[in-house]
Amino acid sequence: MTDPAPLAVVTGGTRGIGLALSRRLVRLGHRTVALYRSDKEAARAAADEHGLIAVQADVADRRSVREAARHILTEHGTPRVLVNNAGINIDRPFLDLTESDWHRVLDTNLSGPFHLTQALAPAMLAAGDGTVVNIGATTGIRPRLNGVNYAAAKAGLLQFTKCLALELAPTVRVNCLIPGMTETEELITRFRLNEPQHRAAVLSEIPQRRIGSTDDIADALEYLVGPLSGYVTGQKLIVDGGQFMW
Ligand code: NDP
Repeated sequence: MTDPAPLAVVTGGTRGIGLALSRRLVRLGHRTVALYRSDKEAARAAADEHGLIAVQADVADRRSVREAARHILTEHGTPRVLVNNAGINIDRPFLDLTESDWHRVLDTNLSGPFHLTQALAPAMLAAGDGTVVNIGATTGIRPRLNGVNYAAAKAGLLQFTKCLALELAPTVRVNCLIPGMTETEELITRFRLNEPQHRAAVLSEIPQRRIGSTDDIADALEYLVGPLSGYVTGQKLIVDGGQFMW
């Protein structure tokens, strides 16, 4: 009997950047589980269209993540690739930030990767191979206004990446892929990019003079999960058209 195709898991994998990452992993020959949180109909439609396996889980809820991980391991096997992509923004001036705004962003963007990676890493280690890619954000390195909760979560995710890379080496590589402004519905709405003056203002700050595409991020993911990055772990890869240049 031939071995099944390798398995990949992508959180928030049925729309936005996560969908592009899931699709790329399918193209690279992975059976790909795309975790979604809320809209079952939309998630199932995306999964059917792109050959994904849709599984519901709220990454902010440890019990929900544990159940999903158990289901994945039992029904589909051990992942070779885990992409912690699910994330939310609740941007507000610091003095207006509620406790709920703080916790929802930290719970999703930082605790989510903790819950799911801890649930899947033992099997990945036992399998003797694997790679984890955490999706960060430039705000985790460079401060911006009204993003205290998001910045804290994404900065934490970067250091989480490095410490985890130490602990899971040499078997499982762990890296942080950091998109710059990437054209998703969420970003277009938030930055009003459909309005020419707003788009022009944003473009003037990006040396490559375009907003990143979700395929730009998938290209970087392809490198990080592939053999060409076999000696790369605990690193950040920033894909932002040169906007910040750290
Ligand atoms: P979207 O808002 O388009 O998609 C977010 C995804 O995360 C959705 O699939 C959503 O699932 C999922 N999600 C959110 N909360 C949870 C949860 N509690 N449990 C499970 N899934 C959840 O965002 P983007 O595609 O723009 O962003 C993807 C990642 O990239 C995020 O981590 C973001 O911080 C990061 N990023 C994005 C940038 C950009 O310019 N777009 C720039 C820098 C970083 P559902 O549809 O079910 O709600």
